[in-house]
Amino acid sequence: MSPAGEIGRRLTEVRRRLAAAADRAGRRPDDIRLIAVSKTFGLDSIRAAVDAGQVDFGENRVQEALQKMWGSSDLQIRWHLVGHLQTNKAKKATGFAWIHSVDSLKLLEGLDRAALDAEGHPDILVQVDLAGEATKFGAPPQHAVDLVHAAARCRGVRLAGLMILPPFADNPEDARPYFRRLRELRDDLVARGLDRSFLKELSMGMSHDFEVAIQEGATMVRVGTAIFGERPTR
Ligand SMILES: *Cc1c(COP(=O)(O)O)cnc(C)c1O
Repeated sequence: MSPAGEIGRRLTEVRRRLAAAADRAGRRPDDIRLIAVSKTFGLDSIRAAVDAGQVDFGENRVQEALQKMWGSSDLQIRWHLVGHLQTNKAKKATGFAWIHSVDSLKLLEGLDRAALDAEGHPDILVQVDLAGEATKFGAPPQHAVDLVHAAARCRGVRLAGLMILPPFADNPEDARPYFRRLRELRDDLVARGLDRSFLKELSMGMSHDFEVAIQEGATMVRVGTAIFGERPTR
């Protein structure tokens, strides 16, 4: 099969798995957005996925993403930044429709200021670190709560939910407690009075564990390898 045909075939398979997982959880597949994480892959791969009906794409590096945005401006794509963002690059990130990785007040303020000056008004998610790993990005829970309240007051960017990237584990079940706790954190914030419209989205689940994430309430799953194949090591 051609590389493009292979990507189309894998996408169909991921959509089938997504729909089956939604079904098992008593949820509607349409309520779960599939984000094709295209980092390290080129425009050919992205075009093949677009041809197969894919609209949402995720990247984890701003510069790499901007190049792909410029090279695909003829296509209807919604771009998501799923990787860490440095505050000094906030200005460059306003072209994303979604930013999943807001994890500090400084970054939030930088993004909000940049978005007020720009045409783009990204929807943002607060990335939560529930594992307490010093090496990982994301705001620890108490800090995340403060960040959520600050983000809800922003006018340039719009708060839309929470994101998590649990520590990698071979067994997808090991990620379940993290997905569950992210959902509980959301429910808790809503129970304490935060408008639910700010926390509609839960971005959680990747190639090997998105079915578990869907069971736990994911509304966005970020899938790379299962669509595009193994990434070349950088
Ligand atoms: C790369 C990446 C993904 C996709 O990972 P796969 O295992 O290839 O599906 C999802 N989320 C983030 C934040 C990533 O960096």
